[in-house]
This record gives sequence, structure tokens and C-alpha cells, in this order.
Amino acid sequence: MAVRTVCVYPDAALRRDTEEITVFDDELKALAADMFDTMYASDGIGLAAPQIGISKKIAVIDYHGDKNVLVNPVITAEEGCVTREEGCLSFPGIYEKVESPEKITVEYSDENGEKHIRELDGFAACVFHHEIDHLNGHLLIDRVSPLKRAFLKKKMAKRAGDK
Ligand SMILES: [Zn+2]
Repeated sequence: MAVRTVCVYPDAALRRDTEEITVFDDELKALAADMFDTMYASDGIGLAAPQIGISKKIAVIDYHGDKNVLVNPVITAEEGCVTREEGCLSFPGIYEKVESPEKITVEYSDENGEKHIRELDGFAACVFHHEIDHLNGHLLIDRVSPLKRAFLKKKMAKRAGDK
């Protein structure tokens, strides 16, 4: 197990297409374990593989002890719309109010290849939606107003330049 480096926006890894996972082996379990370690090290509640530079359809979530490994997750239904403040480990220190579905149905496999279907609402729906967005190359910054987006881009570019 190891803590990996988290890719920070505008790292190109965050926008790459992700590959479907077909093999549920020890390597996949080790990757999931590393992802949990990385997420906990940054005090996060969710982490998607592109955030550690791996273009595969896997994300991990630990929301109030509800620990999930999402392999090849798909949102099959969504309902309503709520505005919540979201943060992201790839946008350190930034919290933005964004819209997300109020309720979602998600289908995914776990690290053992077992299938799950879950209906989620409240903050859990928001966390699952956020991580699944990552696997499709969509980021927090895509869901804010154009004005806000321009501001955040500048802020993140300045941050990258300061390093
Ligand atoms: Zn994120």
C-alpha cells in the first residue's frame, strides 16, 4: 500500500479517456487500497483513478464510514437538482457551489467483480456523482458559471506557477 501523488488541475491526466476494467485481480485490489490511502492522506472522501494519473474506470469513496470501490460505474437514472458546495482534491482549497442531481441510481462492480445497484440521495448522491464525473473527464470547474470558471482557471494557473 502506498500514497500516490494527486494530480492537480490543469494536469492533462484529469481529462483523459478512461478504460473499462475487465480483470478483477490482486493488482486491482492493490490499486483500490492505494487509492484509499491516498484519499485518507489528503482528508478526502472520494478519489477517482485519473486523479492519480491512471486512466481506468475506478473510484473510491468513504463517506461517513460507507466505504465503496466503484468499478465501471454508470449513472442509470437521475432525478431533481440541488445546489451544494463541493470540493475536489485536484482543486486544493477551492469550494464551489455547483448543481448536481438530487437522486441518482448507480450501477457498478466492486473490486471483487460483484455487481451493485444503489439508489442514493443527499450528500452521498453528490459524492458518487462527483467521482463518476471524474471517470468521464468532467471536473468541478466545468459545472460553475463561465465567469467563475475564468476566475478559477486563473487562480489554478497562478498556483501552478508559484511552485
Ligand atoms: Zn474531484
